Amino acid sequence: MKVAEIMASLEKKYGQEKEYLQAVREVLESVEEVYNQHPEFEAAKIVERMVEPDRIFTFRVTWVDDKGNVQTNLGYRVQFNSAIGPYKGGLRFHKAVTPSMLKFLGFEQTFKNALTTLPMGGAKGGSDFDPVGKSNAEIMRFCQAFMYELWQCIGPDQDIPAGDVGVGGREIGFLYGMYKKLAREYNTGVLTGKGGTWGGSILRPEATGFGALYFTQHLLHKAGKDIKGKTVAVSGFGNVAWGAATKATELGAKVVAVSGPDGVCYIKDGITADMINYMLDMRASNRNKVEDMATKFPKLAVFTPGKKAWSIKCDIALPCAFQNELNGDDAKELMANGTWCCCEVSNMGCTPEAIKAFQDARILFAPGKAVNAGGVATSGLEMTQNATHISWSAKEVDEKLHFIMESIHEACVKFGTQKDGHIDYVKGANIAGFMKVAQAMLEQGII
Ligand code: GLU
Repeated sequence: MKVAEIMASLEKKYGQEKEYLQAVREVLESVEEVYNQHPEFEAAKIVERMVEPDRIFTFRVTWVDDKGNVQTNLGYRVQFNSAIGPYKGGLRFHKAVTPSMLKFLGFEQTFKNALTTLPMGGAKGGSDFDPVGKSNAEIMRFCQAFMYELWQCIGPDQDIPAGDVGVGGREIGFLYGMYKKLAREYNTGVLTGKGGTWGGSILRPEATGFGALYFTQHLLHKAGKDIKGKTVAVSGFGNVAWGAATKATELGAKVVAVSGPDGVCYIKDGITADMINYMLDMRASNRNKVEDMATKFPKLAVFTPGKKAWSIKCDIALPCAFQNELNGDDAKELMANGTWCCCEVSNMGCTPEAIKAFQDARILFAPGKAVNAGGVATSGLEMTQNATHISWSAKEVDEKLHFIMESIHEACVKFGTQKDGHIDYVKGANIAGFMKVAQAMLEQGII
């Protein structure tokens, strides 16, 4: 394979799809050398097949808002790759959702899911529906209208959606309610991230953030460091940021920043349990304002409008919000303030310039597809529980999650250790995930 040639042909076809092209380029550049040692991959055109989704469903979603106005959004499901299992990946409800965004997320999901050690293919879906400012009833009506189209594309052994930005337990509940009404199937395994009383994994809400911190611990231990007493900046205040802040605090770190689209809250003495709980209220309010944290806790948090979490001095940066939320300038600002570790918790949270700046400076950096894989891994555990009609305790799930994150870290070290001993976690994660999917595709013939 020649990355330049493949990218040129994709750019010609999909020139507008910036996020998708960014994600593909990162993976292909990482795997080029190893791939080219496998002529059998080249003969089966594995890479050319792998960069295209198996199929994309696009549908209109029409619903009625609280004022009686008719609203129309677009809905999508990108079934990217099924080489190692049924399609699996979240749904994102955000005003900026486009096919490009979902293609990048589906592509990333394919390799992330391969890293989890569980048999799951890659998918992503969602809508340009904007949950900000919507009432609970509007969220429900939208979810119902969305499922009215989606239900025919999914199934517990076929494609299993879950949450992502803008989709949490509440939305999964509404989506499942409509699914079972339409499909007349009562297998809760069709969606993950469900409520605890009806098939949900006890630890799924926490899993992405907890898993990210377990991975961070392994990375720090490998580098001879410890998280205890370190300052941590977290971006966002949604489900992932909440889990990360909870576990970081539990492990003895001090979370000094949380942020939102409106600015950043600096928390000098570290986030408290009450503040962490309040993050859940902030998300449920659909206001999307981190300023609410400073309003609620005026003595503990100082809000600065228009600033990112990366303006706060910290040892460890944890992007937990959105793709490309940490750019080259942010990376330089962080490092100028003494940051020596960045674990990407959001999907593609750092721009290529930021990753290059971190890698050139040789600070510890790990990519989202390894760091945040605990979320989908726990979804995989939820599927197992549903398929076998059992339920595990939080302790059992947490132990399995620990084991999976350790395995992912080991895979990154195995495939990412360079000749000089430096560990390139980006290469490690990409090669480990890619080789597994490529081998499975090869064994299944030309389809
Ligand atoms: N949206 C999450 C991710 O990016 C979770 C997907 C899932 O649980 O299926 O991995």
